[in-house]
Order: sequence, then structure tokens, then C-alpha cells
Amino acid sequence: MLRLHDTALGRVVDIEPRDAGRFSMYVCGPTVYGPPHIGHARMTLVFDVLRRYLEWTGVEVHHVSNITDIDDQIIARGEREGRDPAEIAAKCEEVWYRAMDELGVLRPHDDPHATAYVDRMVELVAALVDRGVAYETSDGVYLSVEKVDGYGLLARQSLNDLRAGARVEVSDEKRSPLDFVLWKKAKPGEPTWDSPWGPGRPGWHTECVVMSLDLLGEGFDLHGGGQDLRFPHHENERAQAVALGRTFARHWMHNGWVEVEGEKMSKSLGNFVNLLDLLERHDGRAYRLLVLRSHYRSPIEVTSDTLADAEAALARLDAFARTTRALPAGGPDGEALARFRERMDDDLDTPAALALLFDLVRRANAAVDAGSPTEAAPVAAAARAIAGALGLELRDAQADVDEATRALVSRRDEARAARDWATADQLRDELTARGWVVEDTPAGTQVRRP
Ligand SMILES: [Zn+2]
Repeated sequence: MLRLHDTALGRVVDIEPRDAGRFSMYVCGPTVYGPPHIGHARMTLVFDVLRRYLEWTGVEVHHVSNITDIDDQIIARGEREGRDPAEIAAKCEEVWYRAMDELGVLRPHDDPHATAYVDRMVELVAALVDRGVAYETSDGVYLSVEKVDGYGLLARQSLNDLRAGARVEVSDEKRSPLDFVLWKKAKPGEPTWDSPWGPGRPGWHTECVVMSLDLLGEGFDLHGGGQDLRFPHHENERAQAVALGRTFARHWMHNGWVEVEGEKMSKSLGNFVNLLDLLERHDGRAYRLLVLRSHYRSPIEVTSDTLADAEAALARLDAFARTTRALPAGGPDGEALARFRERMDDDLDTPAALALLFDLVRRANAAVDAGSPTEAAPVAAAARAIAGALGLELRDAQADVDEATRALVSRRDEARAARDWATADQLRDELTARGWVVEDTPAGTQVRRP
């Protein structure tokens, strides 16, 4: 059984889904006002691995991740550039999904857009006002956190401690510095929607409560995101559900920070790293591998060294795929797969799962080198299955080989079988001239792009 660290409980617990054989998860998606950064990418990769692993074990996963397409930052950029905020959001969403595709992140089954849910958000805010837990001020509607049982659960701090640490703004009409905005009254020139409190737009924290409950229902299995979303965003989502008497997420899961050259990544430090830049210089699979090398709750360090290391490991996997592509078909080594499940069920111990994968790769390569294809086959099949479950696509480079090249490869194999070395060498030169790297393997001639 899968065990995960539940942030609300502060320990690793058994994950028993609401409905047997199914798993519902909500992962906070991007606010689409600029390019994704490598912190976003780590988060989506962590939850992609969770989803893929569960699906691989036969669980039916319902994965929801929202798109925040209305927000202060989108409006501010629109004003700065004289553009329609909706157009900025649509463009940035396109860029987001292209980058996620390059990382091999599966698209969520549902990606609700905030602007499509405003009516329901207004209903939720009105219900909170009716219950006496929310109040109106001159600039919006706020939730009174003191009226919510267990506020501070995800922050793992008491209300008093949180209050002591909160910033108090003098001009504030809020009853407590921790109270947060549910509805923002419109300022001139902003996109607006109608509400009982006049034109305005919903607060960010309200969006995810409405959309998660709407698409996944009460008591859905898991709510996730990066460590930075734990407080206040997730705390405030939960507070609204609790204040309404609705059962929210059964479990909470958060991934660790990304460190860039030894410092926690943040825009204020100026070490914010654009994912598109990274993908221009590196294979998206290398970043997945780098993420998998650390436990999801630990920080990861992104430096040119750690990326180069991940690329070297990836090259070993691709070389393994080439070496073993022509092995006899057959089932994977069951014991290896059982060990993989043990590691993953243990709070997604991907560093241990990767160690196992590379061990299998070494064993399969060694068996091929020793001329024992039947011994290599089940081990190689297990390694391929594990790589697949982790979303690591292996490329043996034969897939994109054109017809003419295939013909040269098979003529060369025939020449070698006939011990006609002169022809074999001549064909090798011809392949090299076409830009291929030629390798002799026990399975015959293999070509790949350099
Ligand atoms: Zn959210």
C-alpha cells in the first residue's frame, strides 16, 4: 500500500483512497502571466510521477490542475504592455503546456480556468458571509480566520503564533492581520464580474476550493503543491471548506524547494530560473532525472554540475536501450518489480527506485556482453517497465531511422555475417557520412545521432 507524508498530520501515513481502485488529486496549477520557472517544473514532475506510478499499479487516477487566468500580476502586465489580460493568459497557458510536454508531464484530466468558475465562487463567498464567517470592507470581502476551527493546521503553527508573525498594515480594515480576501472590489480599468458586493473579482484562495470540490467532490484524496503553497494558500483553501462545513482533501502533499547555486530559488533573490531557458540547453528528461534523484520532500540543487550529471545518467539509459533493443521478448523480472513497488510505496522513495533501475541496467548490459540474451531479457524488461512508471522515456534512436539508412544497416549486418569486412567498413563509412554514429552490438549494427 502506498504511504505518503501528509503535511496536515506531519507524518507518513497509509493512503486509503475514498473509492477503492481510484485516486483523486488536485494540484495547484500556474498563474499564467509569464514563463514557467524550474520550481513549477519540479512540482509538476513530482505529481506526474505520483500519478504515473499509481496508474502503473492499476489505479484509476483523476488528476485536476487549475489555470489561474485572472490575477493582479496578469492585470499589471496587461497595463504595462497595453494588452488584454485575457490574451496574455491564453498565450502564457500555451507556453506552459508546451514546456510541460517537453518535460513529459501528462496533461491533467481537467484544467479548470478560474474565469469559468466566477459564478460559483460568488456563491461560495456569499455562503461564507451568510454564515457570519466573512465580512465586507471598503475594498473587498474577507474571511475571519479566528472563526475557523483548526486554522494553522497546514502551517503547523497555532493561531497565536501565526498572529504574532503576521504583518499588520495600518490602513487595514481587516479584523485580524491573518484574515484574507475572498472577493476584491474592482479598481478602475480592471476586468470585473458582478457580485452582491458590486463589481470585482475573486481572490486566489477561493478559486481552488470551488474547483477542487466541484470536479472531485467532497473528501477527495489528495491536495498537492509546492512547499511555498502550504501556507497561506492551502491553509486558506482549507479554512473556507471547513467554515462551510464541507469535507476537504483527505491528504496534503508538498514537495521541497529548488535551490539554484546553493540558494533557495526565489524571485527576490534574483536567482529565478526560467524553465524555457533550461529546456533550450538541456533535455527535458534530464531535469526529470535530476528531480527523481532527490526525495520529493528534500530540496534539489540545480547547477550546471547536477544537470550535467543527470545528462550523463540519461545517456547511460539511452545506451542501455540501444544495447538491449533486440533482446528476445518476454516478461519482466517480477522480483525486481516488487522491489520497485516497495521503494515507491515508501513515501515515493525515488532515489532508491533509481538506484534499483541503474543496477538492473548494469546487470542487463553485463549479461548482453557475456552473450546471455535469455538472462538479460527479463532484467532489461524490468528496467524498461520501471523507467516507464517513472515517466522516463528511453530513446534507442532506432525509431527515427529513415528507410535508406535501415537498408544500409541491414546490408552491413549481412556483410558482417558473411565476414566481408571490406564491404562492412565501406557501409560504415557511408552511414557516418550521413551523420550517424555507428555502433557494433551483439544485436547487430546500431545507429544513432551524435
Ligand atoms: Zn490552489
